[in-house]
Amino acid sequence: MPPTADEDDDANPTPLFSPFPNDPPPPAPDAAAPAAGAPAPAPPSRRSRFAGAVLGAAIGDAMGHPTEFLSMAAIRDRYGPDGVRGFELYWDRGGHRFAPYTDDTQMAECVLRALLDDRDDLDAAMRGMARRFVDWAERPQGGHRAPGNACLAGCRALARGAHWAEAGGPTAGGCGSVMRAYPFGLVFCDDLDKAERWAVEHSKLTHRDPIALAASAAMAVGVARAIRGEEPLAIASEMLAAACRHSPPTAVMVAEAIGDADAAVGPDQTLDRLRAWAAHEAIAAAIYVFLRHPDDPAAAVLEAANTPGDSDSIATLAGALTGARRGVEALPPDWVRDVERADELRALADRI
Ligand SMILES: [Mg+2]
Repeated sequence: MPPTADEDDDANPTPLFSPFPNDPPPPAPDAAAPAAGAPAPAPPSRRSRFAGAVLGAAIGDAMGHPTEFLSMAAIRDRYGPDGVRGFELYWDRGGHRFAPYTDDTQMAECVLRALLDDRDDLDAAMRGMARRFVDWAERPQGGHRAPGNACLAGCRALARGAHWAEAGGPTAGGCGSVMRAYPFGLVFCDDLDKAERWAVEHSKLTHRDPIALAASAAMAVGVARAIRGEEPLAIASEMLAAACRHSPPTAVMVAEAIGDADAAVGPDQTLDRLRAWAAHEAIAAAIYVFLRHPDDPAAAVLEAANTPGDSDSIATLAGALTGARRGVEALPPDWVRDVERADELRALADRI
């Protein structure tokens, strides 16, 4: 259950966004500010940010793949006291060794390809996405990777001819749509309203619960603002506002996560509460991790992967946000080299 408003007031006495829309936004601390006298590093190019988001998400997905469904005790038993510190799961295909990602990246690729085919016509883009989702459910690229039940149910409805806006379950509120929502923030980074609106519409193919719509909206807005070079707390505040437009309970959960990051509440506490199987928990967990490590995609991905909940999805979201902010050069080169289909994903990002 989300916390009550009273609990949230206690946890976070400084409001991060105003309920009065004409107020100026709160000042955002510049986490990436260089030390006095040091030259400011050049900001990453847009091309680098697009690749950083796509590859960061895939890397997070692959990093969290072996720890999904494991408790923290089981993770520490298997990987040592610090948990997973790099890719632990490798597959071989045609003599090439790689760290496999999961359904999160498979579906996000469907979303991105559909958007690159149709950037201007919502209905055409969603119908193209529906075709790709049905094809994914029946013949996923690289084989099935723990697909979510709501995603598969939505795909079955689409295959039966349901309209894309009505295919998802009305109470489907898992993280299956937010995990694949980051491409809207990339393709529509210069049109925030469109990024949010299309991300919300796309959720309806498989997830129609307001918490899934709100989480998808927040993710699209957050990634778009990261691409635009905005500061972490400003990004988080706008993600909170986007969530609030679609599901106030989701916004409450996000606000508490922002408060936890601000108060330096540790991940053993916050990411144990936010298991992220549900969409509102997933977006709140991602924002918490992003605020703790906005300039360190590797740290963000590892913190997200070492969680007792939906590790691959939290790490996907954290990788997309930090990769969009810092660019592909900020990702560890060996992770970029080893993640599944890195070259294809990089080429896809270059088409944005
Ligand atoms: Mg997954």
